[in-house]
Amino acid sequence: MNLTPGAVADAERWTAHNYHPLPVVITEAEGAWVTDIDGKRYLDCLAGYSALNFGHRHPQLIAAAHAQLDRLTLTSRAFIHDQFAEFCHRLAQLTGQDLVLPMNTGAEAVETAIKVARKWGYRVKGVPAGKAKIIVMSDNFHGRTTTIVSFSTDPEARDDYGPYTPGFEIVAYGDILALEEAIDDNTVAVLLEPIQGEAGVIVPPSGYLAAVRQVCTDNNILFLADEIQSGLGRTGKTFAVDHEGVQPDMHIMGKALGGGIVPVSAVAASHEVLGVLTPGSHGSTFGGNPLACAVGIEVVKLLEKGEYQQRSAELGQRLLGELEHLDGLTAVRGKGLWAGIDIDPKLMSGRTASLALLERGVLAKDTHGSTIRLAPPIVISEAEIDFAVDALKTVLKSA
Ligand SMILES: *Cc1c(COP(=O)(O)O)cnc(C)c1O
Repeated sequence: MNLTPGAVADAERWTAHNYHPLPVVITEAEGAWVTDIDGKRYLDCLAGYSALNFGHRHPQLIAAAHAQLDRLTLTSRAFIHDQFAEFCHRLAQLTGQDLVLPMNTGAEAVETAIKVARKWGYRVKGVPAGKAKIIVMSDNFHGRTTTIVSFSTDPEARDDYGPYTPGFEIVAYGDILALEEAIDDNTVAVLLEPIQGEAGVIVPPSGYLAAVRQVCTDNNILFLADEIQSGLGRTGKTFAVDHEGVQPDMHIMGKALGGGIVPVSAVAASHEVLGVLTPGSHGSTFGGNPLACAVGIEVVKLLEKGEYQQRSAELGQRLLGELEHLDGLTAVRGKGLWAGIDIDPKLMSGRTASLALLERGVLAKDTHGSTIRLAPPIVISEAEIDFAVDALKTVLKSA
Protein backbone atom coordinates (compact mmCIF):
# COMPACT_ATOMS: atom_id res chain seq x y z
CA MET A 1 0.00 0.00 0.00
CA ASN A 2 1.20 3.49 -0.80
CA LEU A 3 1.03 5.41 2.48
CA THR A 4 2.40 8.67 1.12
CA PRO A 5 -0.70 10.40 -0.38
CA GLY A 6 -2.74 10.07 2.84
CA ALA A 7 0.11 11.25 5.03
CA VAL A 8 0.72 14.23 2.72
CA ALA A 9 -2.98 15.15 2.86
CA ASP A 10 -2.99 14.89 6.68
CA ALA A 11 0.01 17.21 6.96
CA GLU A 12 -1.68 19.72 4.65
CA ARG A 13 -4.92 19.54 6.63
CA TRP A 14 -3.41 20.34 10.02
CA THR A 15 -0.82 23.04 9.35
CA ALA A 16 -0.51 26.57 8.09
CA HIS A 17 0.69 26.53 4.50
CA ASN A 18 3.82 28.60 4.95
CA TYR A 19 5.81 25.88 3.12
CA HIS A 20 5.14 23.96 -0.08
CA PRO A 21 6.95 20.70 0.71
CA LEU A 22 7.68 17.95 -1.80
CA PRO A 23 5.27 15.02 -1.37
CA VAL A 24 7.59 12.75 0.62
CA VAL A 25 7.07 11.68 4.24
CA ILE A 26 10.35 10.75 5.90
CA THR A 27 10.63 8.33 8.80
CA GLU A 28 14.32 7.48 9.12
CA ALA A 29 17.71 8.67 8.02
CA GLU A 30 21.39 7.87 8.24
CA GLY A 31 24.35 9.69 6.75
CA ALA A 32 23.35 11.12 3.37
CA TRP A 33 20.22 8.95 2.98
CA VAL A 34 16.63 9.16 4.20
CA THR A 35 13.82 6.57 4.04
CA ASP A 36 10.13 7.41 3.58
CA ILE A 37 7.02 5.75 5.07
CA ASP A 38 6.78 3.48 2.05
CA GLY A 39 10.34 2.27 2.53
CA LYS A 40 11.77 4.15 -0.45
CA ARG A 41 15.27 5.61 -0.03
CA TYR A 42 16.44 9.04 -1.18
CA LEU A 43 19.80 10.74 -1.33
CA ASP A 44 19.47 13.99 0.65
CA CYS A 45 20.90 16.82 -1.43
CA LEU A 46 19.38 19.61 0.68
CA ALA A 47 20.71 18.50 4.06
CA GLY A 48 18.26 20.60 6.05
CA TYR A 49 19.44 23.79 4.30
CA SER A 50 22.97 22.88 5.52
CA ALA A 51 21.91 22.08 9.10
CA LEU A 52 22.99 18.51 8.31
CA ASN A 53 26.53 19.18 7.10
CA PHE A 54 27.75 16.14 9.06
CA GLY A 55 24.94 13.93 7.80
CA HIS A 56 21.92 12.48 9.52
CA ARG A 57 22.60 11.02 12.95
CA HIS A 58 26.38 11.33 12.94
CA PRO A 59 27.45 8.69 15.52
CA GLN A 60 29.67 11.06 17.52
CA LEU A 61 26.92 13.68 17.73
CA ILE A 62 24.19 11.18 18.58
CA ALA A 63 26.36 9.65 21.31
CA ALA A 64 26.97 13.07 22.86
CA ALA A 65 23.23 13.86 22.74
CA HIS A 66 22.28 10.53 24.32
CA ALA A 67 24.85 10.91 27.10
CA GLN A 68 23.69 14.45 27.82
CA LEU A 69 19.99 13.48 27.81
CA ASP A 70 20.80 11.01 30.57
CA ARG A 71 22.52 13.65 32.74
CA LEU A 72 21.17 17.20 32.35
CA THR A 73 19.10 19.00 29.71
CA LEU A 74 18.28 22.49 30.96
CA THR A 75 19.37 24.88 33.66
CA SER A 76 18.59 28.28 32.10
CA ARG A 77 21.34 30.89 32.15
CA ALA A 78 20.38 31.77 35.72
CA PHE A 79 22.93 29.07 36.62
CA ILE A 80 26.06 27.75 34.94
CA HIS A 81 26.27 24.15 33.73
CA ASP A 82 29.32 22.02 33.04
CA GLN A 83 29.07 22.00 29.20
CA PHE A 84 28.81 25.78 28.79
CA ALA A 85 32.39 27.00 29.09
CA GLU A 86 33.86 24.27 26.90
CA PHE A 87 31.41 24.95 24.08
CA CYS A 88 31.99 28.70 24.16
CA HIS A 89 35.76 28.31 24.53
CA ARG A 90 36.06 25.90 21.57
CA LEU A 91 33.79 28.05 19.39
CA ALA A 92 35.76 31.19 20.26
CA GLN A 93 38.93 29.40 19.14
CA LEU A 94 37.31 28.08 15.96
CA THR A 95 36.25 31.62 15.00
CA GLY A 96 39.37 33.38 16.30
CA GLN A 97 37.17 35.60 18.49
CA ASP A 98 37.30 36.43 22.22
CA LEU A 99 33.71 35.80 23.33
CA VAL A 100 30.72 33.70 22.32
CA LEU A 101 27.02 34.12 23.02
CA PRO A 102 24.89 31.05 22.24
CA MET A 103 21.28 31.39 21.12
CA ASN A 104 18.93 28.87 19.43
CA THR A 105 17.80 29.75 15.93
CA GLY A 106 19.63 31.60 13.21
CA ALA A 107 17.18 34.50 13.30
CA GLU A 108 17.89 34.97 17.01
CA ALA A 109 21.62 35.06 16.36
CA VAL A 110 21.06 37.72 13.67
CA GLU A 111 18.83 39.70 16.05
CA THR A 112 21.62 39.44 18.61
CA ALA A 113 24.12 40.76 16.08
CA ILE A 114 21.84 43.71 15.26
CA LYS A 115 21.29 44.59 18.92
CA VAL A 116 24.98 44.29 19.80
CA ALA A 117 26.02 46.36 16.77
CA ARG A 118 23.56 49.13 17.68
CA LYS A 119 24.63 49.12 21.31
CA TRP A 120 28.30 49.17 20.28
CA GLY A 121 27.45 52.12 18.04
CA TYR A 122 25.98 54.12 20.93
CA ARG A 123 28.37 53.08 23.69
CA VAL A 124 31.68 52.73 21.85
CA LYS A 125 31.48 54.59 18.54
CA GLY A 126 29.43 57.47 19.94
CA VAL A 127 26.49 57.54 17.52
CA PRO A 128 23.63 59.81 18.74
CA ALA A 129 20.76 57.94 20.44
CA GLY A 130 18.30 56.30 18.05
CA LYS A 131 20.35 57.07 14.91
CA ALA A 132 22.34 53.86 14.33
CA LYS A 133 22.29 52.62 10.74
CA ILE A 134 23.14 49.12 9.54
CA ILE A 135 23.90 48.50 5.88
CA VAL A 136 22.51 45.27 4.41
CA MET A 137 22.50 43.69 0.95
CA SER A 138 19.95 43.21 -1.83
CA ASP A 139 18.59 39.66 -2.02
CA ASN A 140 19.70 38.97 1.55
CA PHE A 141 18.28 36.23 3.72
CA HIS A 142 18.82 36.54 7.48
CA GLY A 143 15.67 34.96 8.93
CA ARG A 144 12.01 35.66 9.55
CA THR A 145 11.53 38.04 12.49
CA THR A 146 9.72 41.32 11.94
CA THR A 147 12.96 43.31 12.15
CA ILE A 148 14.81 40.97 9.78
CA VAL A 149 12.05 40.91 7.14
CA SER A 150 11.95 44.70 7.40
CA PHE A 151 15.16 44.81 5.35
CA SER A 152 14.40 41.88 3.04
CA THR A 153 14.13 42.69 -0.68
CA ASP A 154 11.97 39.62 -1.30
CA PRO A 155 8.28 40.66 -1.44
CA GLU A 156 7.21 37.12 -0.46
CA ALA A 157 9.17 37.33 2.77
CA ARG A 158 8.26 40.97 3.53
CA ASP A 159 4.82 41.97 2.24
CA ASP A 160 2.02 42.52 4.76
CA TYR A 161 4.33 42.32 7.79
CA GLY A 162 4.75 46.04 8.37
CA PRO A 163 5.14 48.44 10.05
CA TYR A 164 8.81 47.78 9.42
CA THR A 165 11.80 48.37 11.67
CA PRO A 166 13.81 51.42 10.56
CA GLY A 167 17.59 51.77 10.69
CA PHE A 168 18.66 49.69 7.71
CA GLU A 169 19.88 50.69 4.26
CA ILE A 170 20.01 48.19 1.42
CA VAL A 171 22.82 48.28 -1.17
CA ALA A 172 23.59 46.01 -4.14
CA TYR A 173 25.37 42.80 -3.08
CA GLY A 174 28.89 42.57 -4.47
CA ASP A 175 29.14 46.30 -5.26
CA ILE A 176 31.83 47.84 -3.05
CA LEU A 177 31.26 51.40 -4.36
CA ALA A 178 27.57 51.22 -3.47
CA LEU A 179 28.58 50.18 0.03
CA GLU A 180 31.05 53.05 0.40
CA GLU A 181 28.46 55.55 -0.79
CA ALA A 182 25.90 54.37 1.77
CA ILE A 183 28.20 54.92 4.73
CA ASP A 184 27.57 57.94 6.93
CA ASP A 185 28.65 59.04 10.44
CA ASN A 186 25.86 56.99 12.04
CA THR A 187 26.68 53.73 10.28
CA VAL A 188 27.53 51.09 12.86
CA ALA A 189 27.70 47.89 10.84
CA VAL A 190 27.55 46.05 7.55
CA LEU A 191 25.58 42.81 7.71
CA LEU A 192 26.02 40.31 4.88
CA GLU A 193 26.16 36.67 3.86
CA PRO A 194 29.66 35.90 2.49
CA ILE A 195 27.81 33.72 -0.02
CA GLN A 196 24.06 34.24 -0.38
CA GLY A 197 22.36 30.88 0.17
CA GLU A 198 18.62 31.47 -0.14
CA ALA A 199 19.18 33.81 -3.08
CA GLY A 200 20.54 30.79 -4.98
CA VAL A 201 24.17 30.35 -3.87
CA ILE A 202 25.33 33.76 -5.09
CA VAL A 203 29.12 34.07 -4.79
CA PRO A 204 30.28 37.73 -4.71
CA PRO A 205 33.09 38.92 -6.98
CA SER A 206 36.52 37.77 -5.86
CA GLY A 207 38.09 40.34 -3.53
CA TYR A 208 34.74 41.72 -2.41
CA LEU A 209 34.86 40.38 1.16
CA ALA A 210 38.41 41.65 1.67
CA ALA A 211 37.30 45.05 0.33
CA VAL A 212 34.32 45.10 2.71
CA ARG A 213 36.72 44.35 5.57
CA GLN A 214 38.94 47.27 4.54
CA VAL A 215 36.02 49.70 4.16
CA CYS A 216 34.66 48.69 7.57
CA THR A 217 38.05 49.14 9.23
CA ASP A 218 38.62 52.51 7.55
CA ASN A 219 35.21 53.82 8.69
CA ASN A 220 35.07 52.27 12.18
CA ILE A 221 32.13 50.04 11.22
CA LEU A 222 31.52 46.47 12.33
CA PHE A 223 31.61 43.71 9.71
CA LEU A 224 28.90 41.21 10.70
CA ALA A 225 29.28 37.97 8.71
CA ASP A 226 26.14 35.82 8.60
CA GLU A 227 27.78 32.40 8.23
CA ILE A 228 24.64 30.53 9.31
CA GLN A 229 24.42 28.66 6.01
CA SER A 230 27.87 29.28 4.49
CA GLY A 231 29.88 28.41 7.58
CA LEU A 232 30.98 25.23 9.36
CA GLY A 233 32.57 23.45 6.41
CA ARG A 234 29.99 23.94 3.68
CA THR A 235 32.24 25.89 1.29
CA GLY A 236 35.46 23.92 1.76
CA LYS A 237 36.74 26.15 4.57
CA THR A 238 35.52 26.52 8.15
CA PHE A 239 33.92 29.85 7.19
CA ALA A 240 33.27 31.34 3.77
CA VAL A 241 35.15 34.51 4.77
CA ASP A 242 38.27 32.33 5.15
CA HIS A 243 38.51 32.07 1.35
CA GLU A 244 39.64 35.71 1.35
CA GLY A 245 41.56 35.54 4.62
CA VAL A 246 39.06 37.91 6.18
CA GLN A 247 38.28 38.14 9.91
CA PRO A 248 34.86 39.73 10.45
CA ASP A 249 34.06 41.63 13.66
CA MET A 250 31.33 39.10 14.33
CA HIS A 251 30.71 35.53 13.17
CA ILE A 252 27.00 34.66 13.15
CA MET A 253 26.44 30.89 13.18
CA GLY A 254 23.53 28.47 13.27
CA LYS A 255 22.16 25.53 11.30
CA ALA A 256 24.98 22.90 11.35
CA LEU A 257 26.13 24.13 14.77
CA GLY A 258 23.35 21.96 16.23
CA GLY A 259 24.51 18.89 14.29
CA GLY A 260 21.01 18.41 12.85
CA ILE A 261 19.85 17.40 16.34
CA VAL A 262 18.98 20.57 18.26
CA PRO A 263 18.63 24.22 17.23
CA VAL A 264 21.90 25.89 18.20
CA SER A 265 23.08 29.30 17.05
CA ALA A 266 25.71 31.69 18.32
CA VAL A 267 27.54 34.91 17.70
CA ALA A 268 31.25 35.31 18.32
CA ALA A 269 33.10 38.62 18.57
CA SER A 270 35.79 40.58 20.38
CA HIS A 271 35.70 41.83 23.98
CA GLU A 272 35.10 45.34 22.63
CA VAL A 273 32.00 44.27 20.71
CA LEU A 274 30.25 41.53 22.72
CA GLY A 275 31.44 43.20 25.90
CA VAL A 276 28.71 45.84 25.48
CA LEU A 277 26.15 43.33 26.76
CA THR A 278 25.48 43.60 30.49
CA PRO A 279 23.34 41.38 32.77
CA GLY A 280 19.67 41.68 31.83
CA SER A 281 20.26 43.50 28.53
CA HIS A 282 19.77 40.42 26.33
CA GLY A 283 18.99 36.75 26.81
CA SER A 284 17.27 33.51 25.91
CA THR A 285 15.70 30.79 28.07
CA PHE A 286 17.07 27.93 25.99
CA GLY A 287 20.20 29.65 24.61
CA GLY A 288 23.32 27.71 25.53
CA ASN A 289 21.41 24.86 27.20
CA PRO A 290 23.34 21.71 28.23
CA LEU A 291 22.03 19.54 25.39
CA ALA A 292 22.82 22.23 22.82
CA CYS A 293 26.32 22.73 24.22
CA ALA A 294 27.07 18.99 24.45
CA VAL A 295 26.18 18.54 20.75
CA GLY A 296 27.86 21.84 19.83
CA ILE A 297 31.13 20.76 21.46
CA GLU A 298 31.24 17.66 19.25
CA VAL A 299 30.36 19.72 16.17
CA VAL A 300 33.30 22.03 16.85
CA LYS A 301 35.54 19.00 17.49
CA LEU A 302 34.59 17.60 14.08
CA LEU A 303 35.62 20.90 12.51
CA GLU A 304 38.83 21.32 14.52
CA LYS A 305 40.51 18.54 12.53
CA GLY A 306 39.81 20.14 9.14
CA GLU A 307 38.76 16.84 7.55
CA TYR A 308 35.24 17.99 6.69
CA GLN A 309 36.48 21.24 5.21
CA GLN A 310 38.94 19.30 3.03
CA ARG A 311 36.30 16.79 2.01
CA SER A 312 33.83 19.55 1.16
CA ALA A 313 36.45 21.24 -1.04
CA GLU A 314 37.34 18.00 -2.88
CA LEU A 315 33.79 16.68 -3.31
CA GLY A 316 32.68 20.16 -4.32
CA GLN A 317 35.18 20.22 -7.17
CA ARG A 318 33.73 16.96 -8.41
CA LEU A 319 30.12 18.16 -8.08
CA LEU A 320 30.69 21.54 -9.74
CA GLY A 321 32.89 19.94 -12.43
CA GLU A 322 30.13 17.49 -13.35
CA LEU A 323 27.37 20.10 -13.24
CA GLU A 324 29.25 22.34 -15.65
CA HIS A 325 28.93 19.71 -18.36
CA LEU A 326 25.16 19.31 -18.13
CA ASP A 327 22.89 20.53 -20.91
CA GLY A 328 19.75 22.41 -19.89
CA LEU A 329 21.31 24.65 -17.24
CA THR A 330 21.71 28.38 -17.76
CA ALA A 331 24.07 28.86 -14.80
CA VAL A 332 26.13 26.87 -12.33
CA ARG A 333 27.46 28.67 -9.24
CA GLY A 334 29.07 27.46 -6.09
CA LYS A 335 31.91 26.97 -3.69
CA GLY A 336 32.87 23.78 -1.90
CA LEU A 337 30.05 21.28 -1.67
CA TRP A 338 27.44 23.93 -2.36
CA ALA A 339 25.96 24.51 -5.80
CA GLY A 340 23.20 26.71 -7.15
CA ILE A 341 22.00 25.74 -10.62
CA ASP A 342 19.57 27.61 -12.83
CA ILE A 343 17.43 25.35 -14.96
CA ASP A 344 16.57 26.67 -18.40
CA PRO A 345 12.99 27.89 -17.75
CA LYS A 346 12.06 26.82 -21.31
CA LEU A 347 12.65 23.21 -20.21
CA MET A 348 10.86 23.11 -16.85
CA SER A 349 10.38 24.92 -13.56
CA GLY A 350 12.54 24.24 -10.52
CA ARG A 351 9.53 22.67 -8.85
CA THR A 352 8.99 20.26 -11.74
CA ALA A 353 12.68 19.35 -11.68
CA SER A 354 12.57 18.78 -7.89
CA LEU A 355 9.55 16.49 -8.28
CA ALA A 356 11.28 14.55 -11.06
CA LEU A 357 14.43 14.23 -8.92
CA LEU A 358 12.27 12.92 -6.07
CA GLU A 359 10.97 10.22 -8.43
CA ARG A 360 14.57 9.25 -9.10
CA GLY A 361 15.52 9.07 -5.43
CA VAL A 362 17.16 12.47 -4.97
CA LEU A 363 15.93 15.12 -2.52
CA ALA A 364 16.52 18.69 -3.68
CA LYS A 365 14.44 21.85 -3.41
CA ASP A 366 13.83 24.71 -5.80
CA THR A 367 14.10 28.36 -4.89
CA HIS A 368 13.07 31.48 -6.85
CA GLY A 369 11.41 29.70 -9.79
CA SER A 370 14.17 27.98 -11.72
CA THR A 371 17.03 27.64 -9.25
CA ILE A 372 17.89 24.43 -7.41
CA ARG A 373 20.35 24.33 -4.56
CA LEU A 374 22.51 21.25 -4.11
CA ALA A 375 24.05 21.02 -0.65
CA PRO A 376 24.39 17.37 0.31
CA PRO A 377 25.80 16.29 3.67
CA ILE A 378 29.60 16.40 3.59
CA VAL A 379 29.66 12.66 4.42
CA ILE A 380 28.34 11.94 0.90
CA SER A 381 30.60 9.71 -1.27
CA GLU A 382 31.92 10.40 -4.77
CA ALA A 383 29.70 7.64 -6.17
CA GLU A 384 26.67 9.21 -4.50
CA ILE A 385 27.48 12.58 -6.05
CA ASP A 386 27.62 10.88 -9.43
CA PHE A 387 24.25 9.26 -8.69
CA ALA A 388 22.69 12.67 -7.97
CA VAL A 389 24.19 14.28 -11.07
CA ASP A 390 23.12 11.33 -13.25
CA ALA A 391 19.57 11.69 -11.94
CA LEU A 392 19.63 15.38 -12.77
CA LYS A 393 21.01 14.65 -16.24
CA THR A 394 18.18 12.19 -16.93
CA VAL A 395 15.58 14.66 -15.66
CA LEU A 396 16.93 17.46 -17.88
CA LYS A 397 17.15 15.14 -20.91
CA SER A 398 13.55 13.97 -20.46
CA ALA A 399 12.29 17.54 -20.90
C1 LIG B 1 18.73 29.88 7.63
C2 LIG B 1 19.37 31.21 7.73
C3 LIG B 1 19.02 32.13 8.73
C4 LIG B 1 17.88 31.89 9.70
O1 LIG B 1 18.06 30.75 10.47
P1 LIG B 1 16.78 30.14 11.27
O2 LIG B 1 17.40 29.07 12.13
O3 LIG B 1 15.87 29.56 10.22
O4 LIG B 1 16.16 31.24 12.03
C5 LIG B 1 19.72 33.31 8.78
N1 LIG B 1 20.71 33.59 7.92
C6 LIG B 1 21.06 32.73 6.94
C7 LIG B 1 22.18 33.08 6.02
C8 LIG B 1 20.40 31.51 6.79
O5 LIG B 1 20.73 30.69 5.81
